[in-house]
Amino acid sequence: MATYVERVVESLKKRYPEQPEFLQAVQEVLQSLQPALDKNPKYEQFKILERIVEPERTIKFRVDWVDDKGEIQVNTGYRVQFNSAIGPFKGGLRLHPSVNISILKFLGFEQIFKNSLTTLPIGGAKGGSDFDPKGKSDMEIMRFCQAFMTELFRYIGPTVDVPAGDIGTGAREIGYLFGKYKQLTRNFDGTLTGKNLLFGGSLARTEATGYGVVYFAQNMMDARKDSLAGKTCVVSGAGNVATYCCQKLHQIGAKPVTVSDSRGMIYDPNGIDVKVLKQVKEIERASLTRYAELVSSAKYTPASSYPKDRHAVWDVPCFAAFPCATQNELNLADAKALLANGCKCVAEGANMPSTLEAVHAFLEAGIAYGPAKAANAGGVATSQLEIEQNAGMTAWSFETVDGRLKEIMKAIHDNAAATAAEFGQPNNLVMGANIAGFRKVADAMIAEGVC
Ligand code: NDP
Repeated sequence: MATYVERVVESLKKRYPEQPEFLQAVQEVLQSLQPALDKNPKYEQFKILERIVEPERTIKFRVDWVDDKGEIQVNTGYRVQFNSAIGPFKGGLRLHPSVNISILKFLGFEQIFKNSLTTLPIGGAKGGSDFDPKGKSDMEIMRFCQAFMTELFRYIGPTVDVPAGDIGTGAREIGYLFGKYKQLTRNFDGTLTGKNLLFGGSLARTEATGYGVVYFAQNMMDARKDSLAGKTCVVSGAGNVATYCCQKLHQIGAKPVTVSDSRGMIYDPNGIDVKVLKQVKEIERASLTRYAELVSSAKYTPASSYPKDRHAVWDVPCFAAFPCATQNELNLADAKALLANGCKCVAEGANMPSTLEAVHAFLEAGIAYGPAKAANAGGVATSQLEIEQNAGMTAWSFETVDGRLKEIMKAIHDNAAATAAEFGQPNNLVMGANIAGFRKVADAMIAEGVC
């Protein structure tokens, strides 16, 4: 007879066949929960799985704005408020042409467990739009963000739902969103995180996800009596998470030798120059070909020169790999290439960057594997610290926030490792993180009753 997990997954597949990313995320989480479900029959009795895979609320809206030529443009905006059992909804806003309900539901679903793991009182959500910020002027970005907030403001608030950044949504976009939110609600509060330091942002929030993923990898290495110091690392992506992952790797004495964007990869045997990377990506907003123009030791490989189902970054020999770009950027063939080249550690900065097959390959090989919902939780955890500072009308030093971030990443690692050990698989942090994140939310849902 089919197990509880199998029945829920099958029914979901029938209901949402057009949502592959969401189904992938659900399968990854639910498959590892079976031992916890066996141990506590209350979860099935209270239909926790059936309830936890459905968002509490999904908002979809039209976003009309006017471009620099005076033409009217129309995009779709979304907010998926997935689960508020342990705290107000929280999760980023993604601005990318690939955004659809499947991707936002996968991200929102993952966010429930990630936020629970941080040990802080935060529910799970995600939102965004199919708007493409690439090539748009500052004024166009501003008009889009204002139009987006004109609808979204009705559904958010400091104790209701607190959006943040994600792909395509950085400090500039959060600034425009916050300005409009403040005007519409007449409230200066902590409803958006990732704000500019001039109006309530937190020091170390920009760096938090990238730094946090390295702290998490260090915790995994400590548990194995090994270290990242002196080791070669590969990083994918060239945005917020990748940049600060590279910076922290340098600070701890490791050497990141790659970064990538949607068009190609940089290999720099001398170690990625973070100052140049920031100049190219944060200031010039240019392609990585520009990095190769500025750094003579760098070699650029265009993505188009590589086989369609492979990613050049993962062919570079390394001790540790940090996927920090986007979902499904590391498949089984990529995982095999990493393992064949001696990779001993994978820590995920992006959300769901490894396919299910790649995850199984890492677990079977017994390397240190830090799944996204644990390894990249530093961003949302620091967002919560921003909310705390806003509520107390205060601002903490960089060292204070970074210190709290370090403690939180260690707590997340230790919680996932202890839970994995409790269920007899001490090296399986996927199982440990999923069960630890799930139990807190499920127990809260039971305690709050059926409502
Ligand atoms: P950014 O927009 O700052 O950077 C994203 C980077 O990934 C860019 O270099 C982009 O290249 C690249 N990229 C995007 N899509 C693709 C693709 N299809 N193929 C190859 N490269 C791609 O986003 P972030 O750094 O903020 O986010 C990166 C990942 O980390 C996402 O999965 C996000 O959900 C996750 N994350 C982010 C957090 C944060 O605090 N920012 C918190 C937790 C998770 P290009 O410039 O060419 O588009």
